[in-house]
Amino acid sequence: MTTLRIILWDIDGTLLESGGAGVTAIVRTARELHGQELSLAELDYRGRTDSLIVRQIFTRFQIPWSEENLTRFRNRYLQYLQEEISRSSGRVYPGVERLLSAIQERAGWRQGLLTGNFERGARIKLAHFGLERFFSFGAFGDRWECRNELARSAMQLLRERWGEELSARQVFLIGDTPHDVLCAQAIGAYSIAVATGGYSLAELAGCRPTMLLPDLEQFEPLLALVEGRS
Ligand SMILES: [Mg+2]
Repeated sequence: MTTLRIILWDIDGTLLESGGAGVTAIVRTARELHGQELSLAELDYRGRTDSLIVRQIFTRFQIPWSEENLTRFRNRYLQYLQEEISRSSGRVYPGVERLLSAIQERAGWRQGLLTGNFERGARIKLAHFGLERFFSFGAFGDRWECRNELARSAMQLLRERWGEELSARQVFLIGDTPHDVLCAQAIGAYSIAVATGGYSLAELAGCRPTMLLPDLEQFEPLLALVEGRS
């Protein structure tokens, strides 16, 4: 019997870059709804969930935190994201589509998302770049501000789907920031760090991922890792 293996993907900086569409959409939303000019330098967004980014903006501008304000911000952001991405100069990183296809073809391997994006934001980005077809499940940043909590909820979702006996040692997280590595470690999963999103190899090495790659063009070692461990 083939052992089930689950590969969970981060989106921004790992699969693709949105050409600044996400950040621009946030800046436009803050300006329109709250009359605030955010500078990009103020936003510590890499590896953060969308909910946490909105929380940081609300704190910064002393906007009351409520479901209503969050929903309003999210809806407008998603509308702007759709607009911005259609004129963005983003791209899918080299090797990504080949790797997604290779994983999809393996018996017993499943791939999903573990991303800080709002679910609808994730779908907008993936659909724009034609990657949506690879992902049928995922854990998203709508409810979770903390990536470790998000990872724990992903693990719960996986066990609901594939059974309580599913071990974190069957789970592999691919991401581009220390937050991705740390949240894999928090649930006992393997972590594959890829230096395409702005963090250097040295910075990523510092948090001791299971595997560290400069990019996903040469992905054989990654397949070997997933194949060999469970
Ligand atoms: Mg990322």
